[in-house]
Amino acid sequence: MKMNNGTMAPNPGQIYAILKQYWGYTSFLDLQEETISSILEGRDSLTMLPTGGGKSLCFQLPALIKEGMAVVISPLISLMKDQVAGLEDMGIAACCLNSSMPAAAWRSVVERIRRAGLKLLYISPERLQNESTIDLLRSVPLSFFVIDEAHCISHWGHDFRGDYRNLRIIKETFKSVSVHAFTATATRVVQRDILDQLKLDDPRTRIGRVDRPNLIYRVMPRRQILKQITDVLEKHKDEPGIIYCLRRRDVDSVSASLNELGFKNAPYHAGLSDETRHANQDAFLREEVDIIVATVAFGMGIDRSNIRFVIHAAMPKSLEHYQQETGRAGRDGLPASCYMFYGGGDYRIWSFFAEQSSERAVMMDKLRTVYNFCAQPQCRHKMLVDYFGQEYEKRTCDACDYCLNELDMIEEPLIVAQKILSCVVKVKQERYGFGAAYVVDVLKGKMTDKIESMRHQHLSVFGIMSGESTVFIRYMIEQLVGQGFLRREGEFSTLAVTDPGREVLSGEAVPALARPLVAAKKKAVSRRRDERREMEWAGVDQELFRRLRAKRAELARQKGVPAYIIFSDNSLKDMAAKEPVTAEAFAAIYGVGESKLGSYAGIFIEVIKQYHEYVREYFKNVPGGHDIHVRQAGEA
Ligand code: ADP
Repeated sequence: MKMNNGTMAPNPGQIYAILKQYWGYTSFLDLQEETISSILEGRDSLTMLPTGGGKSLCFQLPALIKEGMAVVISPLISLMKDQVAGLEDMGIAACCLNSSMPAAAWRSVVERIRRAGLKLLYISPERLQNESTIDLLRSVPLSFFVIDEAHCISHWGHDFRGDYRNLRIIKETFKSVSVHAFTATATRVVQRDILDQLKLDDPRTRIGRVDRPNLIYRVMPRRQILKQITDVLEKHKDEPGIIYCLRRRDVDSVSASLNELGFKNAPYHAGLSDETRHANQDAFLREEVDIIVATVAFGMGIDRSNIRFVIHAAMPKSLEHYQQETGRAGRDGLPASCYMFYGGGDYRIWSFFAEQSSERAVMMDKLRTVYNFCAQPQCRHKMLVDYFGQEYEKRTCDACDYCLNELDMIEEPLIVAQKILSCVVKVKQERYGFGAAYVVDVLKGKMTDKIESMRHQHLSVFGIMSGESTVFIRYMIEQLVGQGFLRREGEFSTLAVTDPGREVLSGEAVPALARPLVAAKKKAVSRRRDERREMEWAGVDQELFRRLRAKRAELARQKGVPAYIIFSDNSLKDMAAKEPVTAEAFAAIYGVGESKLGSYAGIFIEVIKQYHEYVREYFKNVPGGHDIHVRQAGEA
């Protein structure tokens, strides 16, 4: 392979050697190798890989191989700082330039750039509007540009950022340098927009699998939210997780109530002082606190890889947001759970914001889709994958409430739907209709003043669902709205039957309707969860894992970096399974490269040795205990 600077590309053996030397990995994840080769060839590219898909390595590794400095455009300062800290910990020369830096630090970075002492430079998009930055970049050899979170460039995306539009100047200004865009969530329209806006030249587009098979999705109507949240926390005792709320005041009240109930957590939202926000985020990243209650302001750049659950206490405004927010769970590839508790009120709040936005049509479309996702009992993995324009090949995902058979499907959905829809048709007057609460009263046959005044007790639908609970009927109505058979109209959210709804009335279409969760099913679910957990921990000494984790937290505090930068949970689990006590055995642990071997082998081996000592002491007085032999990696 000939590279754009005329030199010969390294052979695959050398690439694997670098992967092991710096990252401590022995194989590539899906599409990493292909993306790396595009960068080495110097051909523009767009790569979409799910969160946790290993995007950073795709550009960090070729940056080491190619001559010159790679420039990475990244939207968030915290994200840049963490990436730079991670690279430095691996022994790679990297820095960032952003507007929050003191002048002296700035000068020292510029100095390093001029001395050609950097392999990677992270900068924020607005820096590129600055002539002096452009001049600086022009004055040194560049290997390539990376646009991280490239969906921010598109109006059709979910996180549009005005200053990303300016990135088109890269191709205009640095004609011979290749540009590589990366994103985790982009529909087909957004992918096309990224290519157009950046003016990429004959780009290679690689779209990784959107699906995150290790995430288990569950979506339920919201009832007593605090109880619903604490039920989840009970199931995930001592595990790290994020709880997303819609508004700042919800964050404050949920966080305070949970702390009172003994679920230690820290809040995060834009209304808190910078100092508190940073302190809480850092505490979470360094594993001093395991639960964060937050608005969506928390997240981008949160690379803690061992997040085991994400709870949405309300519906997000798009499936892109949902994919991105849930995507923060299970980046280490181990099973993680995503729970969403939604309600019709969430839809109203988001549509209020959409109405005031210049992107109204796009936002409303995304909102209807996410509501449909909530209310439609179908494989959640399949729905997400379809939305991002890919085929879902498996028959069942075995990782959502629908496929795990946790939803109690109704045997005769057509009859239930027809009863509700015909009630909506019958109560609707020429000029006005009625909301869900009224429709439920009529179906249940409640004799209220309003019903009497409208004389609706004489309708044939009055009392035809008298045997069902209010919760049940409300739940059915939400599903019919979510699936597009009913529509909410106007200021009072009155119900109206849509065209597809009329097809249900004539029996041409059949909705899928599920009952609210029942106790018996819940038990089966937690049994299955336990089984999964057991598999996940097979061969791992959990007490040793706990001690290794404590050591990692201590080191993270000392160094002032997030814990995952030191080692991922996968690496600690591998240590707790193999129990290495020699540097040689430690080098074979997952995620141990040369730099980490040098920095940490001694420290973690010491923890393992102390644990072995503890085990020996503990069993010394147990009858037959002196025969117990502590297995050590590397021993025959
Ligand atoms: P993304 O930016 O796509 O969300 P990251 O770059 O943060 O993902 O990578 C997610 C996790 O996967 C990190 O812990 C990273 O070290 C790990 N990872 C990346 N590449 C590999 C690989 N080839 N083998 C094993 N783990 C990898």
